[in-house]
Amino acid sequence: MRDKCGVVGVRFDAEKNRDAAALYIYYALQALQHRGQESAGIAVTNGSCLLSDKGMGLVSDYFSRERLQKLAGYAGIGHVRYSTTGGSRPENSQPYTVTYKGGTIAIAHNGNLVNYRELKKELEAEGRVFNSDSDTEVIAQMLARELIRNDIVEAVKEAMKRLVGSYSLVILIGDKVIGVRDPLGFKPICIGRVDGGYVLASESAAIDTLNGELVRDVAPGEMVVLGDKIESYRLFRCKNHAHCMFEYVYFARPDSIIDGRLVYNVRHKIGETLAAECPTEADIVSPVPDSGITSAIGYSNSSSIPYAEALIKNRYVNRTFIMPVQELRETAVRLKLNTVRSNIEGKRVILIDDSIVRGTTSRRIVDLLRRGGAREIHVRIGSPPIVSPCYLGIDMATREELIAAHKSVKGVEFLIGATSLYYISLDGLVDAIGMPKEDLCMGCLTGVYPIEIPGEKCEDKQMKLNHFVSE
Ligand code: AMP
Repeated sequence: MRDKCGVVGVRFDAEKNRDAAALYIYYALQALQHRGQESAGIAVTNGSCLLSDKGMGLVSDYFSRERLQKLAGYAGIGHVRYSTTGGSRPENSQPYTVTYKGGTIAIAHNGNLVNYRELKKELEAEGRVFNSDSDTEVIAQMLARELIRNDIVEAVKEAMKRLVGSYSLVILIGDKVIGVRDPLGFKPICIGRVDGGYVLASESAAIDTLNGELVRDVAPGEMVVLGDKIESYRLFRCKNHAHCMFEYVYFARPDSIIDGRLVYNVRHKIGETLAAECPTEADIVSPVPDSGITSAIGYSNSSSIPYAEALIKNRYVNRTFIMPVQELRETAVRLKLNTVRSNIEGKRVILIDDSIVRGTTSRRIVDLLRRGGAREIHVRIGSPPIVSPCYLGIDMATREELIAAHKSVKGVEFLIGATSLYYISLDGLVDAIGMPKEDLCMGCLTGVYPIEIPGEKCEDKQMKLNHFVSE
C-alpha cells in the first residue's frame, strides 16, 4: 500500500454563507487529490444536524452535483484517502462520525498511529464497538470518550496524551471546525482565510485554489478552533519536531508552502545539489515525469546542461492490471510513458527522479531509454537511499521490498541497468529543505525513528515525546 491522505476544514460565518461549505471542501479536496485517490468524503453541519457522504473513487467521480446539494451547511470537513492502516474498503473511508451523549462528531485524519491496536483493545474492553479497522476510528472513539467528561480543549488534550504516531486532524464538533497537529508535526496542515470564513488544509495549494490567503501552518502540538474567529491552543510543545522529509521530496505539490518552505524551491535546490555533489558530463538533463521535473530544472540551471524531456507521460492512465505475459507488461509501461526519440538517440542523458523504492520504476525507465537509443543513462535521485519502512503515514514498502535495504548503490545501479547512479547525500537533502536535521523525520533513510516503534531503533529523538511539555 502507498499512502497519502489529504484533509480539509471550512468554517463560514453562518449569517453570510449558510450552504456553501461542501462546495468549498469539494474544490479543496480536488486540489489535494494527489494525496489520495481511493476514497473521498465530506461532512458538514447546518447548525442543527450533521450531514455526511463518502465513497470510493476520485472526488469528482464520487461527488455529483446532487450529492453536494444534499450537503448544505456552513461548516464542515473533508478527506481524500489512500489507505495506510486499514485496507481498501468503503467502511475505512473518512470522515468518521461518532455519536456520543453530547452529539455527533466527525473526524478526518492524515497520518498513522503507531499504538492504535493497544488503544483499540482498551476501548473495546470498555464496550465500544468499531465499524472499521482504521486508526482514525480509534482517535474518534478516544475523543468521544473524553468529550463526555471534559470541554473540547481538555478532551483533545487528554486524547492527544494517549496517541503515539503522526496525525494532522480536522474535526467537526457542533459547528466548530477544529484542526490538530501532533506534537512532532509529522504531517502538514495549515490555516487559510477565505472570503467570509476560514479554511484548514493539508497543503496551502488548496487554500490558493479557493482564492484564499495562507495565514500560517498549524504548529506542532497546536489545536486551532475555527468559529467566528480563530482560537489557538498550544497543547504540547517539544524541543524538536519531526517533519516528514518525504513531503518535500515527493508527496506535496511543488506549489505548496509547508512549514514556511515552498516545496518548489526545495526540489529546485535538490537538483542543484545533485549537480554539485556529482558533476557529470552529459548532453541533456531529463526528469522522470512528474516527480522529477522541478529537480531536473534545478540541475539543468546550475550545470548548464540543457533540459529536455526524454519521456512523455500519459496523464490519463492510473493503475494498469499486472499483465501475465511479459510482452504485454511492457505495453503497460509504454502506456504510461513513452520516449522522445530525437532527444535521446545517441545522447548522454542525466535522468532525475525523486526516489527509488523497489527499483521497478527506474529499471523500466532505464530500459525504455536504452531501447530509444540513449548512449549513457546517469540516474540521479533526489532522496538518499530508502532503507527502512515508514510507520508514520507513508506505506512505501516492507523492508524486504526496499531495494536499498539489501543492495549497495553499485548493486542498485546494476539492477536498474544505469550507466551510473547517484543519490543525494543526507546533508545535501537537509540543506535543500532548509531545516535543522533534528526537526525532520528521516526514519526511512536512517532507520532511526523519532518515536518508539517496536523492533526499530529510536535513540535520542525518542526523548522528544517523553519530554514534551504540556501547557
Ligand atoms: P519504485 O518503482 O518502487 O522504485 O517506486 C519509485 C517511484 O515511485 C518513484 O518514481 C517515485 O516518484 C514514486 N513513489 C515513491 N514513493 C511513492 C509512494 N509512497 N507512493 C506512490 N509513488 C511513490
